[in-house]
Amino acid sequence: MTKIILASPRWYCAGVDRAIGMLDDILDVHGAPIYVNHEIVHNKFIVNYFERRWVIFSDDLDSIPTWSIMVFSAHWVAPSFVKKAQALWLRTLDASCPLVIKVHNEAKKFIAEGYKIIYIWKKNHQEAIWVADNDLENIFIVWNKNEADALSFKPDQKLALLNQTTLSIDDTKDLIAYVQTIYPDIKLPGFSDICYATTNRQEVVKEIVEEVDALIIVGSKNSSNSTKLCLIWERAWIPSLLIDTPDEIPEQFLDWLNFVGISSWASVPDNLVQEVIKYLEERWAIFMKEVITKEEKMIFPYKLDLA
Ligand code: SF4
Repeated sequence: MTKIILASPRWYCAGVDRAIGMLDDILDVHGAPIYVNHEIVHNKFIVNYFERRWVIFSDDLDSIPTWSIMVFSAHWVAPSFVKKAQALWLRTLDASCPLVIKVHNEAKKFIAEGYKIIYIWKKNHQEAIWVADNDLENIFIVWNKNEADALSFKPDQKLALLNQTTLSIDDTKDLIAYVQTIYPDIKLPGFSDICYATTNRQEVVKEIVEEVDALIIVGSKNSSNSTKLCLIWERAWIPSLLIDTPDEIPEQFLDWLNFVGISSWASVPDNLVQEVIKYLEERWAIFMKEVITKEEKMIFPYKLDLA
């Protein structure tokens, strides 16, 4: 018998739920086509679903017809991108996650008070790319100690440290401690800057990997947070897989599945996880239990006011 431990929470976070809801609703109200910069959230299934509804994902503002509706994705956009969209007479709707906006507002406040910001990011994550674009004179992005070493500031420069919302305390604690040794007076990020959904999804996977001999994370490979969840296997030295659909499970991996942990990232619809479970059920007798480490009740409301 194959035993499954299903991690919870695993499905949409409040930011993803809000962005998907906004795009669905704006399509219902105004009709297609609707343009979205980048991807509304990092999940292949969601992107395909909206493409079938004639949503066009494009960062090439010049190619978008005047008066079209553009929705900004959950990852936030740089003010320069917003200004250009408005200068081109696009009607815009901002689906950026409020937690991401909060960190950017903090950065703006610090900069207005004369601070420079050291911003910890996951290399090439969209949220951080926009931050870099936002204010290159005052925001310095770093991912490792070498990059922190390469910075130089005047001795009396006021400094604050912020981080990409979807990095957890585990992701950042060593680098924060290192930056503090270089700049002991630096203002540190508050706990409220860390996304609750990231922390909850990482914590539950850390708990289940102690009990299983293989791990399956349902999510897309261009989602850095899905990859990060998948890498938690390193703590327990068990094989792990990151898949969008069950047919991506290789035959040899199936041999390991005596006791498997299953979870997903916050941008993954839960029916995809259920499909993986069904796929396993069709092959083996399954015993399943769910490990719930947190109840999530966060909701981010929205309005469909176009700018
Ligand atoms: S993972 Fe966190 S920061 Fe990202 S969209 Fe969800 S709630 Fe917002």
